[in-house]
Amino acid sequence: MTCDIIIIGAGASGLAAAVEASRAGASVLVLEKNHVPGRKILSTGSGKCNFTNLKVTPASYHPASPAFLKKTFSALPPAEILSFFGKLGLLWVEGEKGRLFPRSLKAQDVVNVLLHELDFLNVPVRTLTEAVSVTADKAGFSVEAVKVRPKWEKSTTAGERTVYRAARVILAAGGACYPQIGGGSGGYGLLASLGHTVSELSPSIVPLRAKGEQLRELDGVRLETALKLVAGGRTRAESAGELLFTSYGVSGPAVLDLSRAALAALREGPAFIEADLMPDYKPAELGKLLRERAAAFAGRAFPHFACGLHNEKVVRAAAARAGITWSSAVPADCPAALTAALRSFTLEVAGSLGFEDAMATAGGCALSEVDPASFASKKVKGLYIAGELLDLDGDSGGYNLHLAWTSGILAGRAAAKK
Ligand SMILES: Cc1cc2nc3c(=O)[nH]c(=O)nc-3n(C[C@H](O)[C@H](O)[C@H](O)COP(=O)(O)OP(=O)(O)OC[C@H]3O[C@@H](n4cnc5c(N)ncnc54)[C@H](O)[C@@H]3O)c2cc1C
Repeated sequence: MTCDIIIIGAGASGLAAAVEASRAGASVLVLEKNHVPGRKILSTGSGKCNFTNLKVTPASYHPASPAFLKKTFSALPPAEILSFFGKLGLLWVEGEKGRLFPRSLKAQDVVNVLLHELDFLNVPVRTLTEAVSVTADKAGFSVEAVKVRPKWEKSTTAGERTVYRAARVILAAGGACYPQIGGGSGGYGLLASLGHTVSELSPSIVPLRAKGEQLRELDGVRLETALKLVAGGRTRAESAGELLFTSYGVSGPAVLDLSRAALAALREGPAFIEADLMPDYKPAELGKLLRERAAAFAGRAFPHFACGLHNEKVVRAAAARAGITWSSAVPADCPAALTAALRSFTLEVAGSLGFEDAMATAGGCALSEVDPASFASKKVKGLYIAGELLDLDGDSGGYNLHLAWTSGILAGRAAAKK
């Protein structure tokens, strides 16, 4: 089969690219290895799909690439992503911190509005079809694809090979995270085979493994915190929000926000998370509160002083770190020691849960090899690279999908030009 553009990957960037390229008049074929398109989109935002954010700026992306992203966002201003989805018929609602979700709070609707448009535009999406090689020649590209057999189906002929021809190719095969729903390193392999530089991959927005006393006792506790990542004697990053203690370490939004910086710091040496377990109290206020409680409960058992102060497991853990015996009477020096333990509850970062539990991939195709306004490869004429394959990952909050739509739309429009 021959067409103008083959898009490898029917995820966020590939589906957006297909819509725009087809609207611009190109004949388009989308290849997808999963049995359904947009599988990863369905898992985003816990099934609600935080599809963009009202506060998109270059500062939300890593590694810092302000010059590149300035050109990207002037080619497609962030607000135009809303126009794109508005035109597809999607209504949205605003959550915390500028996060936007479909009004139905169903990720399936985000996938469906894209698929309905592709259906209307007669764009074929060939599922269970994995691109295994891409070769460029003077006339265009050959994409060799292999039929994938789903685990539950015995009748499909697996392994059947087809070579598709196209004038241009958009590589939108996504990142390495969540291999259980289609993530993997295959797209990076295709990039490297075409001569692109792929930087080291690392999970980002991922729960962290941690070492530290009292972790087991705190398993399952959720609380609002302010976190600092400290490494090499200095604060490398800060975040605030919910922290979840787990048997392996820590998770929750505040930890996910810090995880990229934590893993980068860990590659250089020991890294620590300092958690403020009562961030709603200013430092002087917490000291005053604990002194007043110590006076009010003087001579009584420590649990009387502790009860009602915070989740008991949190107070027990902080008290243990402050050297306070739970069954003792309220010690005279307890306010100062407990304030310090609650203010700076330190855990050593030991690693992460890996790509299986990560929401983004750090590393990927070198940005110096890609045009920021069209996402055209500077190495291979007619090749475009979109989405998570790029060495550009966003903070949590809708920034990663925003970049996937943006790069997909710009690549689709540019690839449609003859
Ligand atoms: C659990 C989870 C929750 C997330 N929540 C959010 C969120 O709420 N907001 C947000 O902004 N971001 C979120 N993200 C990140 C976001 O999903 C990704 O950044 C985004 O999907 C990347 O888009 P993409 O097009 O690059 O890749 P994908 O959407 O992953 O699409 C790539 C597609 O290519 C297919 N493919 C791969 N290789 C081949 C091949 N060789 N041949 C054919 N097909 C191939 C894959 O099966 C996949 O369907 C989340 C990620 C995860 C894992």
